[in-house]
Amino acid sequence: MESKTSTYEDMVRQKIAERGSQGISQQELAKSVGLSTRELSIIIKKLIEKKQVIKKSVKENGKSVVKLFAVQVFEEPKLLVELNSVADIPCFSCKFLYKCNEGTHVNPNSCSKLSQWILSIIAK
Ligand code: SF4
Repeated sequence: MESKTSTYEDMVRQKIAERGSQGISQQELAKSVGLSTRELSIIIKKLIEKKQVIKKSVKENGKSVVKLFAVQVFEEPKLLVELNSVADIPCFSCKFLYKCNEGTHVNPNSCSKLSQWILSIIAK
């Protein structure tokens, strides 16, 4: 049973990942994977708990729509970055990081913390 569940989880995650930054609504996803709303809700809940998927409210045609997005899993870094140069970026310690996006209430364009940080590095 566990492997069957994992297979469905993999399939659902793959379908969400295929939509990339556009995301996909739960209703749209239910149609494309052929699962019942209840089964899909359980799988999505598990994927969210595993931090593989997030739900985010986005604006589309002036309306707020809740969509699912795959959390990108990054492979081992191939380029070494001096962490001192980026460690102070406020987004790394921000509790809104996974909700912050263009078109959402919390976004980089209106973030005072990010603006202050940018101004502070310009002033250096
Ligand atoms: S832009 Fe602002 S709100 Fe968004 S993640 Fe960075 S610090 Fe947080």
